Amino acid sequence: MSRAHNFSAGPAAIPLPALERAQAELLDFGGSGMSVMELSHRSKEFAGVHEEAKALVHELLGVSDDYAVLFLQGGASLQFAMLPMNFLAKGESADYVNTGSWSKKAISEAKRFGAVNVVATTADSNFNHVPAIADLKFDPNAKYAHVTSNNTIFGTQFHEFPDTGSVPLVSDMSSDIMSRPLDVNKFGMIYAGAQKNLGPSGVTLVIIRKDWAEKAASDLPTMLDYRTHIEGDSMYNTPPTFGIYMLRNVLAWVKDEGGVEAMAKLAQERAAKVYGVIDGSGGYYKGHAQGDSRSLMNITFNLAGEDLEKKFVAEAAKENLVQLKGHRSVGGIRTSIYNACTMDTIDTLVAFMKDFQAKNG
Ligand SMILES: *Cc1c(COP(=O)(O)O)cnc(C)c1O
Repeated sequence: MSRAHNFSAGPAAIPLPALERAQAELLDFGGSGMSVMELSHRSKEFAGVHEEAKALVHELLGVSDDYAVLFLQGGASLQFAMLPMNFLAKGESADYVNTGSWSKKAISEAKRFGAVNVVATTADSNFNHVPAIADLKFDPNAKYAHVTSNNTIFGTQFHEFPDTGSVPLVSDMSSDIMSRPLDVNKFGMIYAGAQKNLGPSGVTLVIIRKDWAEKAASDLPTMLDYRTHIEGDSMYNTPPTFGIYMLRNVLAWVKDEGGVEAMAKLAQERAAKVYGVIDGSGGYYKGHAQGDSRSLMNITFNLAGEDLEKKFVAEAAKENLVQLKGHRSVGGIRTSIYNACTMDTIDTLVAFMKDFQAKNG
C-alpha cells in the first residue's frame, strides 16, 4: 500500500496512527463484538469514547469548566447561522471581520437576524492579508465579535487575537484548531468543522462559555439552541458517533505527539520549508498571502499562467502528491498542510517544487 501525499483542504489527511487504531478496532470495539458505529450512543462503551474526546479537548486546549465542549452536526456552516440565531436579534448589532469567503458566509447568515458591523475587510486585495489587530475598532455595544482565525481558501491566518473586553469574541477555527496553543478564556465561543484538523466530516466541535449560552434567545427551535446541547451533553439526539470516535483517535495522537505546542512547532517547520521554496524561487512561485499574514496551514501560490499550473498539478500527481489545485477564487496551487501532514510529505513536495522549476523555469 502506498499512502498518498494528500494536500486536500478538507476533508483532509488524518494521522495514520488514528486510522490504524480505527482499523484495528473496527470489527470489535473494546470486546463488545460490535464496531463503534453499531453501539448505542447511550452505551457505556460509547460513553467512554465521548468522555475521552471531551477530556482531550479540555486538556489539549486548556479549556476550563466555564465552557461546554459540544460535538454537533451541520458543519461550521450551520454555526454561521446558529450563532446569530442565539445571540443577535433585530435592533442589535454584531461585529465581523471579513477576511475571505468563509467570513463572508458567516456575515450573510448573521444579517438574517440583526445588524452586522464589518469592522474591517481585506476584499480590495483579494484577501491576501488579514488586518492588523491594532487597527480593529470593535463596537463596545456589539452582541459579539467574530473572526475567522485561518482563511483556508486564501491562505492567511491571524497569529494573534484581539481583546474585545466584555464583548464575547467568537472564532471560526475550522482550519487551524489544535495547531497551536490558545488562550480559550479570551473567547465566548470557538467552533470548527472536524474535517480539516480534527478528523472526518460530519462532526463540528463547539466550545462555548456556559454563562453566555444562558443569555441566548428564548424561542429557538430545540436543535438550534446551544442550551439543548449543553444540557444534553451533546446527546439530546443521536450524535455523530463514528465522527466523535475518530476525533478521539486524532486527539489521542496529538497528545502522544506532545500536544498543541508540538503541533505548533511542526507547523512552523513545515510552513518554513514551503515558503522557503516560494521565496527562493526568484518569483517563479508567487505566494498569494502577504507578510506576517501567511497561514501555516494553507499555502497558496501561483505560477506564470494556468497552463503551467495545470502541468504542475499533473506532474505532482505522478509523484503521489495529490489535491494541490487551488480554490477557484485564488487559482493556482494550494497546499493544505494540517497537523496530519508529515515531514516526509513536505520534503517530497519541496523537492518536487525545486525540480519542477529547474525543468520548467
Ligand atoms: C471548511 C471551512 C468551513 C466550512 O465548513 P463545513 O463544515 O463544510 O460547513 C467554514 N469555515 C472555515 C474556515 C473552513 O475552512
